[in-house]
Amino acid sequence: SLILSVRVTPFGERRKQCLVVGRDITKVFHLNLIHRDFVANASHELRTPLTVIAGFLENLSESTLTPDSHQRPLNLMRNQAERMQTIIEDLLTLSRLELEEHASEMTTVAVADEVELIVIEARALSGDQHLFVLNLDTQLELIGNQRELHSALSNLIFNAVKHTPLHTVITINWHEDEQGACFRVTDNGPGIAAEHLPRLSERFYRVDKARSRASGGTGLGLAIVKHILHRHEAQFSIASELGVGSSFTCHFPAVSCLHHSPTCQ
Ligand code: ADP
Repeated sequence: SLILSVRVTPFGERRKQCLVVGRDITKVFHLNLIHRDFVANASHELRTPLTVIAGFLENLSESTLTPDSHQRPLNLMRNQAERMQTIIEDLLTLSRLELEEHASEMTTVAVADEVELIVIEARALSGDQHLFVLNLDTQLELIGNQRELHSALSNLIFNAVKHTPLHTVITINWHEDEQGACFRVTDNGPGIAAEHLPRLSERFYRVDKARSRASGGTGLGLAIVKHILHRHEAQFSIASELGVGSSFTCHFPAVSCLHHSPTCQ
């Protein structure tokens, strides 16, 4: 069957006439499907052998029989294998998100509770050297997929730790706003130059590749966040200024918000 993309442009006096342009996008559509399937299949195929290799490397490097001279290369190989496992897991997450348009298994998600759990892990990651300020409305909940929302929020919070120096202040806000609800992570870290902002949520896009790799980043985090928010009909925006800091904001529509106060609709 044929897949058409149709654009309707009204024109003429009082725009009573229309120009209808149809474009056959069957090929592009099928190429997209092939591309998605390829990423999902390739990641699945790579995951099993890599898990075996990582397991053996771990056993070898922990073995007392392994000569000291082999410890360093073994540890390096183990770290690289773990890194590849993380990339593959993120690629599989992305292709799963791309395959289904809408989030499934919707429940009520207590965002403030999720944030508090994530911040405990984030503090551990930073060796308790970042300063967290939490302004969370504990009465405000979201209707969404708990696993996906947890993943989106933790990507943003972990990024604020990974990409900023020690002692950076990380502020997390969660409150109602005119459109529904707003979740925002702000840091007073190094900031991001304006030319990078439009590309940050592309797959594998990193401002500083070497630095991001060293901090354990795959370059897929913001792409995952963008997909998850899209599936929850939320808007995502990034604002940043070099030397001032960055803020990552998610606006959720009123239909997916629940507030336990009397003002709740
Ligand atoms: P990564 O796995 O590298 O964190 P992401 O997709 O999550 O990948 O982020 C893309 C890039 O955006 C990062 O590599 C980093 O350069 C930049 N970035 C993300 N969050 C921040 C932040 N809070 N401060 C500065 N740069 C950031």
